[in-house]
Amino acid sequence: MTAPGTPTTAEELRGVGLRVTAARVAMLETVRDGDHLDVEAIASGVRDRVGHVSLQAVYEALHALTAAGLVRRIEPAGSPARFEGRVGDNHHHVVCRSCGVVADIDCAVGQAPCLTASDGHGFAIDEAEVIYWGLCPACSTARSS
Ligand SMILES: [Zn+2]
Ligand SMILES: [Zn+2]
Repeated sequence: MTAPGTPTTAEELRGVGLRVTAARVAMLETVRDGDHLDVEAIASGVRDRVGHVSLQAVYEALHALTAAGLVRRIEPAGSPARFEGRVGDNHHHVVCRSCGVVADIDCAVGQAPCLTASDGHGFAIDEAEVIYWGLCPACSTARSS
């Protein structure tokens, strides 16, 4: 199934210096298969794959995967943290104000920071965190009918 030369999930974990456990492999796969899942959804996906895992273990493993750069954490205001497997490309997100659904938006410029600060106050700025807000198609249809 995996193309030759493509590292397996276990090899990716090893590659960033993380101990390979069934739960971590299942977690990375759950995050990648999912669409901006929150911790609860990831925990249930991991349990479907490998059986019971405590929520605490899920938090700890997500923290390790995020710190290692295999998973990206986004935290839109007013919503629980979400996790995704699309990392390293400075893409942004649009969040529905009504139902909270999240979608990816490619970086407007292509690399970080994609906004130039009018006054950087001498900081070496390397990122602008952009979240677009609005109504998703389903919610705007519901509202106008
Ligand atoms: Zn919506
Ligand atoms: Zn995303």
